[in-house]
Order: sequence, then structure tokens, then C-alpha cells
Amino acid sequence: MKLALIGFGQAGGKVVDSFIEFDERIGGGFVESAIAVNSATTDLHGLENVPRANRVLVGQARVKGHGVGADNELGAQVTEQDVDEIQEAIDRIAAYEVDAFLIVAGMGGGTGSGGAPVLAEHLQRIYNQPVYGLGILPATDEGGIYTLNAARSFQTFVREVDSLLVFDNDVWRSAGESVADGYGRINREIAERFGLLFAAGEVGHDDHVAESVVDSSEIINTLNDGGVATVGYARETVEDTQGGLLSSLRSGDEEGFDEGQSTTRLTSLVRKATLGRLTLPCDVGSAERGLVVATGPPEELNRKGIERGRQWLEGETGSMEIRGGDFPLPHRDEVGSIVLLSGVTDVPRIEKLQQVAIDAKHRTDELQASADEEFASLVDTGGELDALF
Ligand code: GDP
Repeated sequence: MKLALIGFGQAGGKVVDSFIEFDERIGGGFVESAIAVNSATTDLHGLENVPRANRVLVGQARVKGHGVGADNELGAQVTEQDVDEIQEAIDRIAAYEVDAFLIVAGMGGGTGSGGAPVLAEHLQRIYNQPVYGLGILPATDEGGIYTLNAARSFQTFVREVDSLLVFDNDVWRSAGESVADGYGRINREIAERFGLLFAAGEVGHDDHVAESVVDSSEIINTLNDGGVATVGYARETVEDTQGGLLSSLRSGDEEGFDEGQSTTRLTSLVRKATLGRLTLPCDVGSAERGLVVATGPPEELNRKGIERGRQWLEGETGSMEIRGGDFPLPHRDEVGSIVLLSGVTDVPRIEKLQQVAIDAKHRTDELQASADEEFASLVDTGGELDALF
């Protein structure tokens, strides 16, 4: 499906950069246009793939291109003030050609955390197409302010979008990696998971259009009714160690052992994708809807395998709304399965985030009150001295 991507803030911009790179690599065609919005000039300059003309600086009058710190209320305010400038950039793209908008933002910072929900509300008023969010949660060790920002942004963003896809940085960290290396790797993971999902259904891909190919309406219908969505992904290199023997056997004997092998492979990939690391860990049983997409060389995408995987997911979620299909990617040596779970409600990570945020807010309020009191007593001379004016 064709997306207008809007990267908000530093994380949002960098992830959109990664989406563009991934889209070009697989020849996916899901990035119809890409815009980056930030209140910090240096972050906009640091981007590599978002066209320069599509980089929008907001809040110049207030923060002079220096960013909003981690103040997401200020991020929301400057976005409200400068939303027309973002709209001008969107006006330059062919918005009627996009199937949906996707606003990407790190939820723990200031600009994206505050600005993304404001932009979502604005786009919902102007366009008929769905507006989705991709919200990135901060790692738990980033500290109270990031957690508080993320919890407040989450609450607002999820209300304004048609679906909030969530990626949790905490689950995807690796020990011993520098922050920059870590984000580079994580951003590629984000681009691959969500990119493959959105690239599915872009017909005309090398003319290998399978009968059961996923189309954009299936993605839209799965994400439809709002709430939170998470994505799982598993892949496997296709073994062709016998120097093409498997392919020749396959063409000579369509119902041969390969058929059974690809069925088993696909169903187990669906299980691995669902039960492995999700972009936002949750109780799979709480999902309201789901979509299973099988990706890889067309000859490996066997219908029976996808159908069995789909049925398995129905059993696992108890949902009657599990869709399935494939996304043929010729010339790839990997078979994969993407599982989109939508309308998930049992998400311990969000509950924890909210609890930590509430505690952080109470502590901040208490510290503020005692600091006010202490300051008052510092300057108080019991009426012995008068201020100058
Ligand atoms: P903003 O520019 O004010 O919107 O804030 P940032 O985007 O810099 O940071 C917000 C949060 O996003 C941080 O707390 C991190 O959790 C996360 N973050 C920052 N950069 C990246 C990145 O490149 N990739 C990912 N996955 N997360 C990031």
C-alpha cells in the first residue's frame, strides 16, 4: 500500500530515512512520499534520504531551531502554531495517491512526542485516508522524564490515530552496543518489519502477482477500528544446497515433497513470528484482529501453508477476524512471515509505563512543592529586610 510517511522529531526522521532505504532495496514502492518535521535544525540536516525540500522546521519563532529539549508540551504547542507549514509540505505531495498516512515518532522525547498527536488530529480533519501512528517507546533505563513523556504521548496519540503501531526500544536493545550503533540496527529492524507489511499488496512487483496476494484493503481493515497494533516477524533462508536440484524437482513434480516442506515451513514461521519477539510484547489472546502475510520467492509461498498458519492464529487469538495472504518477493533467498495483531488490550509494558509515569509525576510534583517551600524560606527574612521594588 502506498504511504505518505511523516517522521516527527529525531527518531521519527531517522526511522523514515530507514524506511526509504528499505523500500528502495526491496523495490517495494510503499513510500509514496516522505516528510520530516523537527524543531531542531541539526537533526533535519543529519537526515540522508528524506528529500531536502520535504524537511520542515517548526517552532522557529519560539526555539530558533534549537529543539524543544524533552518538553513535549512545547513540542505540541509549536506544532499547533506551525501546522500550516507542515500542511504546505503535504500539499506538495500527491496526497490523493496515498492509501494512508503514517506518522512516526519517538514517544519519549519532545518534538515527536508532543507534535505527532497534534499532526494526526490535523490530518484526520483534512483527509479521508486513514492516519496511522508508529510510536517508539523509550527504553526503561532512559529515565523518568522520558517515561512520563511517552505515557502522556501514548494516551493522546492513540486517541488521534486510526491505529497506533508500537515499537518498544526496550525489547530490542542489545548489550554492549553503542547508542548510535544500537539505533542504526533497531531502525533497520523497524523498517523491515513494518516495511514488509506495508509493501505487501503493491501489485506489479516484477509481475509475479500471486492469486492470494494481500492488498491494501486487508491491511486497512485489520487496522481499522483504532487501538494498538503490534507486529511479529520470522524468516528463514531458503535452502537450495543441492545446486538447483530442488527447483528442478519442484517443476517436475508439483505435488512432491517440497510442497509439504514449504507448508510446514510457512506454518512454523507464523508460529515463530507470533510467539517470538513482537514489536510490542502483549498477550496474543487479547488481539481483536490479525493478518498473516507470507513473504519470499513466489514458488515457496504455498497457499496451504498460509491457510494453516492463519487458522492456527485464529485458534491462538480466539478471533474470527484473521486475514491471510502472500507478498511474493522474487529473487530473495528468504521466506518470511509477518503477523500483524491489532486491537491488542493486554499489554503489560504499557501498564508498567503508565505506572512508572504516574509515580514520576507524583515525585516531580512533591519535589517542586518542597523546592518552592525551601526557596520561600531562603529569601524570607521574617520582615527584617525589604525588597528593592
Ligand atoms: P525529539 O527529537 O524531541 O522528538 O526526540 P527524539 O526523537 O530524539 O527522542 C525520543 C526518544 O526516541 C528517545 O528517548 C529514544 O527512546 C528514541 N530514539 C531516539 N533516536 C532513535 C532512533 O534513531 N531509533 C529509535 N528506535 N529510537 C530512537
